[in-house]
Amino acid sequence: MNGKDLARTTLSAGLAPLSHLYNRLRPGIRILMYHRVADLPAYDQLTVSPRRFEEHMAWLAAHQRVISLDTAVTELDSGQPLRPGVVITFDDGYLDNLTHALPVLERHRLPASIFVTTAFAEQAMSHPRYPAVEGRLHLTWEEIRQMAANPLITIGSHTLTHPFLGRLSGEESAREIAQSRAVIQEKIAAPVNYFCYPSGDYGARETGLVSDAGYRAAVTVSPGSNRAGTPRFALRRTEVTDRDSPRELAKKLAGGFDLIHLLLDLRRRRNFARAARLAQEKGN
Ligand SMILES: [Zn+2]
Repeated sequence: MNGKDLARTTLSAGLAPLSHLYNRLRPGIRILMYHRVADLPAYDQLTVSPRRFEEHMAWLAAHQRVISLDTAVTELDSGQPLRPGVVITFDDGYLDNLTHALPVLERHRLPASIFVTTAFAEQAMSHPRYPAVEGRLHLTWEEIRQMAANPLITIGSHTLTHPFLGRLSGEESAREIAQSRAVIQEKIAAPVNYFCYPSGDYGARETGLVSDAGYRAAVTVSPGSNRAGTPRFALRRTEVTDRDSPRELAKKLAGGFDLIHLLLDLRRRRNFARAARLAQEKGN
């Protein structure tokens, strides 16, 4: 463990009781963020092994109220006192979501949302994080259709080309957001109501564009629980990794990592804002 990791761990351990207490007093809905479910030779922050995924799902099925994103948004909008709940999401539309995650979700009867990028589905490009992957990385349209037909699965949009939206012109950003919805709706012949910002890069311009495009809600990578007052186009998510045992997962759901994740997110958002400013200056 390097100094930075040590500081992070110590800080999060110190802050855990505080965020834990806050979450107990104000229950909310947690949206979990997964990407890949695969056995990789080395640790990857965005990949959980099939064994770990099975462990997570078995624990969630036994201990939590797992609901679809649709149900979550309806409950958030209802004005009724919230019951704690958990939503499962996957980003980027990986083939392993079908081969490794879906059988586990079906076995435990757990709903999940998958956010697909149209250029990935076309196999025209793949996520830049995994350039050297053997075989096919992403779901095809046929497979996405197959998953969309499963009552447990909701398909959402993750743009056309997975850009950093903040670095695009307003026109390009609007196209990524609205056009992807139109394309996916046509491909799966069903409404697409949810959007996910690539790399969590979004600002006031993007939340407005997502609303204008007709989506019902959007998810970010900003951490924390969702409550009635959480902006509908900036829902929070909790990242889960292969290092999380069910015990760690329980701690995350209880808000034990929220404050430390919030500090990391503030830094990320600051960097996004700086990159967006530089891109705008270059563009003008
Ligand atoms: Zn992504």
